[in-house]
Amino acid sequence: IVLMFTLHLFFQVDKFLYHMRLSDENLMDVSKRFRREMDKGLGRDTNPTAAVKMLPTFVRSTPDGTETGDFLALDLGGTNFRVLLVRVSSNGKQKVEMENQIYAIPENIMRGSGTELFDHIAECLANFLEKLGIKDKKLPLGFTFSFPCQQTKLDESFLVSWTKGFKASGVEGRDVVGLLRKAIKKRGDFDIDIVAVINDTVGTMMTCGYDDHHCEIGLIVGESLSYILRQLDLVDGDEGRMCVNMEWGAFGDDGALDDIRTEFDREIDAGSLNPGKQLFEKMISGMYIGELVRLILVKMAKDGLLFQGHTTPDLLTTGHFQTSFVSAMENKKSGLVSAEQVLRGLGLDPSPEDCVATQRVCQIVSTRAAHLCAATLAAVLRQIRDNKAAERLRTTVGVDGSVYKNHPQFARRLNKMVRLLVPDCDVRFLRSEDGSGKGAAMVTAVAHRLAKQHAERQRILNTLRLSRDQLLEVKKRMEEEMNRGLAKKTHATATVKMLPTFVRSTPDGTERGDFLALDLGGTNFRVLLVRVRSGKRRSVEMHNKIYTIPQDITQGTGEELFDHIVHCIADFLEYMGMKGASLPLGFTFSFPCHQTRLDQGILIKWTKGFKASGCEGEDVATLLKDAIHRSEDFDLDVVAVVNDTVGTMMTCGYEDPQCEVGLIVGTGTNTCYMEEMSNVELVDGDEGRMCVNMEWGAFGDRGELDDLCTEFDRAVDDQSTYPGKQRYEKMISGMYLGEIVRNVLLDFTAKGLLFRGKLSERLKTRGIFETKFLSQIESDRLALRQVRSILQHLGLTSSTCDDSILVKEVCSVVSKRAAQLCGAGLSAVIDKIRLNRGLEKLSITVGVDGTLYKLHPHFATIMRETLRDLAPNCEVTLAQSEDGSGKGAALITAVACRLRDAGNPSINIL
Ligand code: ADP
Ligand code: MG
Repeated sequence: IVLMFTLHLFFQVDKFLYHMRLSDENLMDVSKRFRREMDKGLGRDTNPTAAVKMLPTFVRSTPDGTETGDFLALDLGGTNFRVLLVRVSSNGKQKVEMENQIYAIPENIMRGSGTELFDHIAECLANFLEKLGIKDKKLPLGFTFSFPCQQTKLDESFLVSWTKGFKASGVEGRDVVGLLRKAIKKRGDFDIDIVAVINDTVGTMMTCGYDDHHCEIGLIVGESLSYILRQLDLVDGDEGRMCVNMEWGAFGDDGALDDIRTEFDREIDAGSLNPGKQLFEKMISGMYIGELVRLILVKMAKDGLLFQGHTTPDLLTTGHFQTSFVSAMENKKSGLVSAEQVLRGLGLDPSPEDCVATQRVCQIVSTRAAHLCAATLAAVLRQIRDNKAAERLRTTVGVDGSVYKNHPQFARRLNKMVRLLVPDCDVRFLRSEDGSGKGAAMVTAVAHRLAKQHAERQRILNTLRLSRDQLLEVKKRMEEEMNRGLAKKTHATATVKMLPTFVRSTPDGTERGDFLALDLGGTNFRVLLVRVRSGKRRSVEMHNKIYTIPQDITQGTGEELFDHIVHCIADFLEYMGMKGASLPLGFTFSFPCHQTRLDQGILIKWTKGFKASGCEGEDVATLLKDAIHRSEDFDLDVVAVVNDTVGTMMTCGYEDPQCEVGLIVGTGTNTCYMEEMSNVELVDGDEGRMCVNMEWGAFGDRGELDDLCTEFDRAVDDQSTYPGKQRYEKMISGMYLGEIVRNVLLDFTAKGLLFRGKLSERLKTRGIFETKFLSQIESDRLALRQVRSILQHLGLTSSTCDDSILVKEVCSVVSKRAAQLCGAGLSAVIDKIRLNRGLEKLSITVGVDGTLYKLHPHFATIMRETLRDLAPNCEVTLAQSEDGSGKGAALITAVACRLRDAGNPSINIL
């Protein structure tokens, strides 16, 4: 019978409060509306008219647990004004100790002048420091200032308007940090480093963030409401995330909630100090829950549904039904007793039914509050999940506030509804202790740690940054080495070998015929058939096939290597339906070679990982011919041994007669250019010019770059196939840039400056960080989350947004240095050509090939800038060459054949 009776009462109350009870669908709908409000608040153009303001806080990171030191905090705008000393230690286990002192702010100061108020705050601070005997230490301080503010920096915040009883004149519209600094300076008896000014919600998040690194939401459900962390486009610079003070209490101020607001909500609003404002807050926060219940009870009494139609003056008085009453009445055990006591306290004489009904009203009002809170929180969670592009979000919400903490059912209802609305999030709710005090210190501690770490990272990265003077020095030394390489006397000890190629001119367009070309020394080994046409149908047509050279053959014997090559040629001829054909062949062999004729090249040393025995010191054309004879399959006429740089220059030269330099920035790097014969001392004759293959990758092998080399360059060199060799190349080319980055990342991680100090096994693997990742990561079109997915691919699964930003910075520092070094070397070459010819100004084209140069988003631009800066008297056109090593070899062969067919006795004179 009792149960029936209760059910009947519930039914009556529920019917009366029908509009206060929101279904799951209603809540989902509110959640979606709120998500739109968030977007509106975040958008630069939509923000001015948005109800939910999404204020930037300039807090960009949460604690990582390594913070340490002593920090001061001021807490103004909460129940009490306090000064705190917070001691954070991280040795082994994290610990936070606090000392705090409450100071009174007299009524006359709260409402007096701003100067008086800040003088008073400074006075309290001085007193606190004095008491603890730390007045002479210049400690960092965080300032919790919980009033509506327009924040512009972490340590600059302009008060919009006073609330909570404060009214000090001359403060609104001013930077409160500035005012505090001024007051302290005026006293002159102590000094303080004010690092941050924050709002209490931020403090809540930061305090929980210290205990749980997943915490990225702070929520306060007390007298007032709030808050999140995410990318924000109100602030310039769209990298990374920032904590946003949502000020979500204003949700609905533009009418967005009108359909779910009840007559009681309207009544509360009408009787409030700020009608039409903070409409969402008025449905949820502790300041209004009790009052909502009171209004409902009054209405029900007047309708004769309660208290036999009686009201009392107390029940009719605003504020006499406190939110704490609601908490007491909803207590499972003592709720009914409390209900009777409370109602009697209001002068009523309630029947048992009245008590049950009143309890039910409380339940409905507080449940609605918890559920609305869940709906908006769900929107925030979905937003964070989408920002991270994660399928499941695992996150923690730091919570504070009297309603959340004291109401017996609120927390449970909130948690349950959040899980229902966002089933794909694992949410943990963590109660925050003293967010406004400890939180300010935490923000300060984090800012302090970040500043220290930032300085340390920059110190390391600076070793990879080159000044203009250093680049000029590189140019000068390159010039010296070029001269040493060219001169007979010094050639033997020169690092830049300046090898004669016996190519003396570029094509003239009358070349024609079918040619074979081989390309060895790049990423792939290729065989090509090139058809060159002259006259009206002047064109180059190419067919090619790529072959792999297995690792054991590059490291085996020379005979095996060349037999393999011949095998591939035979396969290609068959594939082209030209089995047994005998064609002129150009052999692009991209390793340093001594040439005494065009059709001969004596390998000086292998580079780029090749190691086949019995080749160094031998003529590679002969090695190839011997292998052809061994196969007895076909015959070929080896006309030219060509370096890929020369092929690149020739290919560009076919289109542009001004092209007299060839540059490669691919797996390795190298350059060739047209030098005056009079300077090429290794070849007799002073007439005309000859193309010189610089082999500049070896620049630095006598220590010329040691003063620029970093520990990372030394590590990459140590781990390479030929330590001590190709030092310049190892700072520039595709085979090494990723490795340099990887070594920097390893160092940063070991020093705790990246990935929270956690080394991933995969990152320890040589070659795992490919140079193509630099191109991807540095691409301006790439969002940060894509950088993260690249890092994830490298096994760095728990990387944060800050990690991504840093990795990107490392990549750009390393590739910038490469492009600048390359540009500095090239400026030496070009200026030399200019001086050779005694020109004031030189206009010249450089043919460039190589995947790094072509695909890296900034390499070409930076190199061009460096050239402009270091060789201002040269107008350089950088022309991309298409397949210089294939087409170029064929063109050189074609020119040689043309001259030979014309009866020229020496194929060397091209
Ligand atoms: P090679 O120099 O061997 O003839 P490439 O010019 O194609 O061949 O260069 C290959 C090198 O380019 C590879 O070693 C790799 O490091 C680098 N690379 C490949 N893709 C990219 C990319 N997207 N961005 C930058 N470098 C790349
Ligand atoms: Mg190549």
